[in-house]
Amino acid sequence: MKAVTADCPHCKKPFMAPIEGPEPIYCPHCNQVAGHLSDFKTIFERCAICQCRQFYAQKDFNRGLGCLIILIGIILVPKTYGLSLPVFALIDWLLYKKYPTMVICYRCGAEYRGFSAPSHLKPFMHHIGLKYDRYR
Ligand SMILES: [Zn+2]
Ligand SMILES: [Zn+2]
Repeated sequence: MKAVTADCPHCKKPFMAPIEGPEPIYCPHCNQVAGHLSDFKTIFERCAICQCRQFYAQKDFNRGLGCLIILIGIILVPKTYGLSLPVFALIDWLLYKKYPTMVICYRCGAEYRGFSAPSHLKPFMHHIGLKYDRYR
């Protein structure tokens, strides 16, 4: 399913809305138009919510879960003579590979799931993020 998760520009509440085509995106809390998608092809040229032109790609992966897996691996080190660490690191990596990539808007933080991320999109870059910090 294609969907966007964002903060509503009107009521400021976070919401998730399915994206089915070039049509308005409604906030389920206040029923106002939170954004507008013009075209699937150009979705990552202009954010449907805030019109920002910069996006980054990120794995839709819970880093907390990844840390927990590594932590269990570390705890088991004395029992397994250190073997648990590479094994758990491998599990972590396999899980990570399996997770889909989501695309996030630098300015409003809208998360786009279910789309294939354009290959030119890079992971989050701090210096670009700083530029947009004041909008948040
Ligand atoms: Zn709203
Ligand atoms: Zn945006």
